[in-house]
Amino acid sequence: MLIVFIGPPGAGKGTQASRLAAELGIPHLSTGDILREAARQQTPVGQIAAKYLGSGQLVPDQVIVDVIGERITESDCEQGVVFDGFPRTLPQATALDALLEQRGTPLKIALSLDVPEQMLIDRLMARGRSDDQIETIHKRFESFDQLTHPILEYYRQKGLLREIDGTGTPDDVYAQVLSHWKTPPQVLS
Ligand code: AMP
Repeated sequence: MLIVFIGPPGAGKGTQASRLAAELGIPHLSTGDILREAARQQTPVGQIAAKYLGSGQLVPDQVIVDVIGERITESDCEQGVVFDGFPRTLPQATALDALLEQRGTPLKIALSLDVPEQMLIDRLMARGRSDDQIETIHKRFESFDQLTHPILEYYRQKGLLREIDGTGTPDDVYAQVLSHWKTPPQVLS
């Protein structure tokens, strides 16, 4: 069971992905968390990631695709994964399809969380992570609009996209996640 959450910074992907993963009993893979941890431990990937994390720019596609390609071969991912923050570009989305084709397990659903920009800014400023400074926030929005937004159309055309109003409370949003989950879209062939 493979699920992706898509949304701009502050949309609530982490909260929703972790709750759904716990309910389904499969890992929640947040690429932001993975990269921050790698940077903290100063692994080779972490040293590359550190150059991008603080600036609001995306790490190069091949770096994150290699990390995910390796991670999903681990035994805890056999029954599936809830991805949070990946894929974030069209090349990442096509690379994920290729990885999943190798595994013989296609993506089940792509859940997009929609929240107006001012509400995102308020949420991020309240959260106060080190990359939640107003200038970095604007860079991350720019990356989302230019690089991530096109993957919505990619998944829409595949019949996998479900769009969720992310403005409510975490419980309200999760109720929508579950309702889509229980009636997943049919893959168009
Ligand atoms: P997040 O915690 O999802 O907001 O991600 C924090 C930062 O990690 C982003 O601003 C990027 O620099 C990096 N990052 C996370 N996921 C990806 C990804 N799929 N592709 C490239 N960079 C990523």
